[in-house]
Amino acid sequence: MKEQPNQKKSMLYYYGIALIIILLLNIFVFPALLQPQVREVPYDEFISLVDSDKVAEVSQQDNMIVFTAKDDTDRLMLYKTGIWSGDTGLTERLLAHNVKFAAEIPTQASPLMSFLISFILPMALFFVVGQWLMRSMSKRFGGEALTLGKSNAKIYIESQTGKTFADVAGQDEAKEALTEIVDFLHDPDKYAAIGAKLPKGALLVGPPGTGKTLLAKAVAGEAKVPFFSISGSEFVEMFVGMGAAKVRDLFKQAEEKAPCIVFIDEIDTIGKKRDNGGIPGGNDEREQTLNQLLAEMDGFDGKKGVVILAATNRPDILDPALLRPGRFDRRIPVELPDLQGRLAILKVHSKTVKMDSGIDLSAVAKATSGASGAELANIINEAALRAVRMGHTSIQQNDLEESVETVIAGYQRKGAVISDKEKKIIAYHEIGHALVAAKQKHSAPVTKITIIPRTSGALGYTMQVEEDERVLLSKEDAMNQLCTLTGGRTAEELIFNSITSGASNDIEKATRLARAMVTRYGMSDQFDMVALETVTNQYLGGDTSLACSAETSTKIDAEVNKIIKQAHDTARSILSENIDQLHKLAAYLLEKETITGDEFMKILEEDQAAAATETNA
Ligand code: ADP
Ligand code: MG
Ligand code: ZN
Repeated sequence: MKEQPNQKKSMLYYYGIALIIILLLNIFVFPALLQPQVREVPYDEFISLVDSDKVAEVSQQDNMIVFTAKDDTDRLMLYKTGIWSGDTGLTERLLAHNVKFAAEIPTQASPLMSFLISFILPMALFFVVGQWLMRSMSKRFGGEALTLGKSNAKIYIESQTGKTFADVAGQDEAKEALTEIVDFLHDPDKYAAIGAKLPKGALLVGPPGTGKTLLAKAVAGEAKVPFFSISGSEFVEMFVGMGAAKVRDLFKQAEEKAPCIVFIDEIDTIGKKRDNGGIPGGNDEREQTLNQLLAEMDGFDGKKGVVILAATNRPDILDPALLRPGRFDRRIPVELPDLQGRLAILKVHSKTVKMDSGIDLSAVAKATSGASGAELANIINEAALRAVRMGHTSIQQNDLEESVETVIAGYQRKGAVISDKEKKIIAYHEIGHALVAAKQKHSAPVTKITIIPRTSGALGYTMQVEEDERVLLSKEDAMNQLCTLTGGRTAEELIFNSITSGASNDIEKATRLARAMVTRYGMSDQFDMVALETVTNQYLGGDTSLACSAETSTKIDAEVNKIIKQAHDTARSILSENIDQLHKLAAYLLEKETITGDEFMKILEEDQAAAATETNA
């Protein structure tokens, strides 16, 4: 965007040069081309030519006679001779031989020739020069420069991506979510017959290098349909209005090629929230592009079999309009791989290299917690490079170990790969949440626990899903949730006797909930059914504003603190009572990195059964 004025200037500059070239050609080259050749002949030869009827036209100029020959129909040759003042019978002679004569210069060239030379030739030249300029400009600016509105450049069409789901290791959930789209693209008519409309778009969300682009290609490969891909950043770097034109064109081309996949990578670059209302003309270009994209998505016929996939690692900054039904209403998380996923990815990538037979990939997988698919692919490649350097005939275990270090050190992304110590803390933290939840009555069952970092920035998380839809929150439920929220930090305190910043999100959530209990739900001992806070924006974000005196506000803070402390104490006593299970489950999670709710419950119940038999004995 910033380069725009610059680009415009150089365009003008190129046009200027082209114009000057054409002018110079017109002044110096074309007249020369148009000038017929002139040959001087003696006067007697002229007379004999006239007598033998070979002269077509004659004209008299200042002090010479210029004439053309009859057999030279294109008049490419002019002949001249001096004027012989003694020859007084010339006029009669010319008349007798039917020669046209005048006192001016005869036509130099036939109308066709002069048309060709003075009109078509410059046009052709202009065209050739223009083409050349355009090509050199595209090279400079990495895209189309003069193809206004026609965006045939930079949209990458691959009729066959050559990728399939087998190339994508792990990511089973994402693959499952995408199979339906594959099926739809295979046979759109099957869906159309029933009138089923598939979502027009799906959004792949996940950290960089987790295989989002790869997945999109695999969908196209599985469905055997063309794959249009364009990156969001390419939409905005051209001249004003180009982005929108490009979107229009992209969709037109896609509809012609349907069924097909349109993949918009890094959609966050155009899909950012449109919130810069304060700055006039803020980011008009990007907004125009986004509006056009929204309009196209609404406008095209979903039954035709155009599926739009987009990828982003910043779902939080996307304009909500993009996520509305009929647009990118399906969201497919593509998270960092867990232990098994990492092992599978390493296996996929080791197929293309020569490995020593005794190699242990699982050791590499264990050592790379938090690494992305791209990083793992790189580890294999670095190991292969090292093997060559070392003169090995195949990749050895030590090549792999060395490359793990190089790659991980090379990235130096904060928290790219989590140390064992931190991993342990995170495991205890998450089990702390899960165990507190499980040991309380009426809390939602734990469905998944993971210590793989999330796109949201969480280092791990414990997922709980209510068995049935709830619209009412009882005071007990709220207290349960608070205890569960404090459970993570409590586990850290109990086991490591120190606390970390890992609980910041829990703290935020707990505070919000406890505050709502006091100010909005009337669930505190201190206040009755008094609305101390009102929700000002019911639908967007649910902002609240305080409606009480400063004195009451202080009391609210104290009450909130009291409630959270109470929850924290409950969590502490639950975990202290079940400390053996905490250890056991944390060790299990540490090894597996992701465990399902069933696995969690099984271990928990085994233990309870064992404890029961012990007390009976
Ligand atoms: P993203 O688009 O999410 O940033 P890419 O799809 O571009 O990531 O992945 C980059 C490379 O990393 C891929 O080309 C592939 O070699 C490797 N990779 C990433 N994830 C996986 C995976 N799940 N299975 C196999 N290879 C993967
Ligand atoms: Mg990508
Ligand atoms: Zn937590």
